[in-house]
Amino acid sequence: MQNTGMTSVVVEPGAMAAGAAYVGRFAPSPTGPLHRGSLAAALASWLDARAHGGRWLVRIEDVDGPRCRPGAEDAILAQLAACGLLPDLPVIRQRDRAAAYRRALDALRARGLAYPCACSRRAIEEALLQRGTAPERHAERIYPGTCRAGIAAGTPDGPRAWRLRVPEGAAAHVDWIDRRLGARSEAVDRAVGDFVLLRADGIWAYQLAVVVDDAEQGVTDVVRGEDLVDSTARQILLQRMLGYPTPRYFHAPLVRDAAGEKLSKQTGAAPFAPGRDALAQAMRDLGLGSSGAPTVAGVLEDAAGRWRRMQREV
Ligand code: GLU
Repeated sequence: MQNTGMTSVVVEPGAMAAGAAYVGRFAPSPTGPLHRGSLAAALASWLDARAHGGRWLVRIEDVDGPRCRPGAEDAILAQLAACGLLPDLPVIRQRDRAAAYRRALDALRARGLAYPCACSRRAIEEALLQRGTAPERHAERIYPGTCRAGIAAGTPDGPRAWRLRVPEGAAAHVDWIDRRLGARSEAVDRAVGDFVLLRADGIWAYQLAVVVDDAEQGVTDVVRGEDLVDSTARQILLQRMLGYPTPRYFHAPLVRDAAGEKLSKQTGAAPFAPGRDALAQAMRDLGLGSSGAPTVAGVLEDAAGRWRRMQREV
């Protein structure tokens, strides 16, 4: 989205985190074992942490329990270990973090910045249709604000979602500089509207969980796949509203299959066979060239040298 607000705030990369020692992270969702694309994202975040003499953390994003698969977490950690990607601190899991997410939601509620919502998906679509803004298939629904001023009288009791009261105008405008993609800009009110923090089924929303965890783990640098770039403005807005620092962001290139589709667990991308060859492939996928090194450690060393050079060149 174009930057139209003269008064919007530019978030300099790492502005708030300046001076903090580098902390990076890889945050897989255990919906299945890692595939070639997720290994490239893991390697990028590890290389960047190493290049900055920083710490590299692994966080298991199992906040959406029903989507997680038994055994996937162990499989992921084993795949990473077999590729020499070992976290510098114990792994944390989002399933253990509900109290922290609750504290963040309560802090927003106390300032009137979150509100309960009784809308079903269908009610949202109908409200959008009535306004003449028919949602396109698969497009992100912009919440029409039905429950912003309170849940309509007479609505039957039931579980409620909680939404963020996104400010309007310049305060909703997020400009930031991605270390790879350059200047980015989004008006969160117009792009997504009041987004969900806690779902009606009691599941914490990814946006809230990731922002709380990144802040509490002291993450200074988010290096992840480019498929998540569209979440970044929402996350920066939430950081501001919660008084958290904003990390630097680097969105790594996505790995695509022969048909040009992004590899993803949803479309059944195969897990990789961990080891030297998978790592060398991930290195090529990141545009770091090939390595002739025969061992995992040797490939990591080659990749680290190339990553450092590449960062100096930009
Ligand atoms: N859990 C997310 C995923 O597996 C990644 C979140 C992030 O890196 O911010 O797609």
